[in-house]
Amino acid sequence: MDKRQFLKTTGSLLAGSAFSRLMADVQKSTPQTNWAGNYQYSRKRLDAPKSVAELQTLVKSRSEMKALGARHSFNAIADSTGDQISLENLQDISLDRNSHTVQVGAGMRYGQLAPYLYKNGYALPNLASLPHITLAGACATATHGSGSKNGNLATAVSAMEMVTGDGELVKLSRERDGDKFRGAVVQLGAMGVVTKLRLDLQPAFDMRQVVYENLPIERLKESLDEIFASGYSVSLFTDWQNRRMTQVWIKSRVEPGRSSEIKPEFFGAKLANRKLHPITGHSAESCTEQMGIPGPWYERLPHFRMNFTPSSGAELQSEYFVPRSKGYEAILAIEGLRDQITPHLFISELRTIEADDLWMSTCYQRPSMTIHFTWKPEWAAVKRILPMIEEKLAPFDARPHWAKLFTISPSRLQLLYEKLPAYRDLVKQYDPHGKFRNAFLDANIFGAA
Ligand SMILES: Cc1cc2nc3c(=O)[nH]c(=O)nc-3n(C[C@H](O)[C@H](O)[C@H](O)COP(=O)(O)OP(=O)(O)OC[C@H]3O[C@@H](n4cnc5c(N)ncnc54)[C@H](O)[C@@H]3O)c2cc1C
Repeated sequence: MDKRQFLKTTGSLLAGSAFSRLMADVQKSTPQTNWAGNYQYSRKRLDAPKSVAELQTLVKSRSEMKALGARHSFNAIADSTGDQISLENLQDISLDRNSHTVQVGAGMRYGQLAPYLYKNGYALPNLASLPHITLAGACATATHGSGSKNGNLATAVSAMEMVTGDGELVKLSRERDGDKFRGAVVQLGAMGVVTKLRLDLQPAFDMRQVVYENLPIERLKESLDEIFASGYSVSLFTDWQNRRMTQVWIKSRVEPGRSSEIKPEFFGAKLANRKLHPITGHSAESCTEQMGIPGPWYERLPHFRMNFTPSSGAELQSEYFVPRSKGYEAILAIEGLRDQITPHLFISELRTIEADDLWMSTCYQRPSMTIHFTWKPEWAAVKRILPMIEEKLAPFDARPHWAKLFTISPSRLQLLYEKLPAYRDLVKQYDPHGKFRNAFLDANIFGAA
């Protein structure tokens, strides 16, 4: 089964025995590479336990392992030279209408959970650009969507359960466990195999999405905050040429009984008169509905639809988080590299995220703006450009996305996280023998320690 076929099939079968059968097939055929195909895992085997008890036995009996989500990371963060453990068989859902929370098996994908929540009158605060990723994989790497008042996806977690290095099941909650909880939610797969996450919910809402074309970069100088605050979730796309954002995607909540006008112009950009894909020349069929047509939150917050290949497919990705207050200067710094960047780029995207208090979050105590690069699959060229980008963004203390490609040195990276020493201690407490360590963690987290 190729990648396109797999995504189409998983999207159209959300529950029931057909889905279980499919998952069993997928288990057999899970490729030894990440989704983009740019990284080859070095695992010896892949296990998919059917219960938490089975997982505990497995963890106790092995010396080296790593949880694997939907394989959407672009670097070595999910790799292991021992076992990879898939939680695709642990997908139970339990909705609590009293506390307005849902407890979910950590192997579930957002695209499976979201329609269930909507049907039951609930919503998550935000989603990433694609719904195909697992809850555990996304939260472990501080995956985010956009919205100046929206935290990353891990900030919706209010409790979690994980099997630690000695096979024990540990339960942590925001109310009860303070620092331990704040250290463990964005854990980079280093502390244990997460089996359940409890998420805060809000009442379901509908949204509409409109797209504008050609916003002059200069308009961001005075109005960056206003532009990003013009919707619940706003994304700007650019190829860095001609001093303009090629597209502005504005996702707004539809408030019942309140009609709001769609203006033909937005800070000099013109309302699109057809549905668009962020990458010029790609079909917009894979994108969520636009043109102001209202629909469920989960069919507007991501850019890409569940039953289609998101983004480009054959691609690489990098992303850097800068303080939002320095957003415009950071944009200009990168714009100066346009002629090196554009030939190897599909598209760049700028988003905003609210600050949080999760120790290893890329938005830790910092309202952030991200500069993202969807690259053509040309690693030799990208590897040459990343250090130039990182040098330009160094004055802004840019933090790279944990799951994407970067070349920042471990010693520099470690300076960007003031809670790193406490995080290392917590990793040692939950995984004293380093079962969940891998080359990525050894280099980037423990490297210069
Ligand atoms: C097309 C595309 C679009 C993307 N868009 C966005 C975006 O909009 N925003 C964004 O922030 N990122 C984005 N990403 C990156 C993506 O969100 C991250 O790579 C995310 O970690 C993927 O989740 P996954 O389920 O594939 O996890 P994997 O890549 O399989 O694993 C990621 C990490 O999570 C750990 N992990 C997984 N499951 C568990 C578990 N049960 N217990 C403990 N640790 C676990 C793994 O060990 C690993 O360290 C995108 C990626 C792609 C390919």
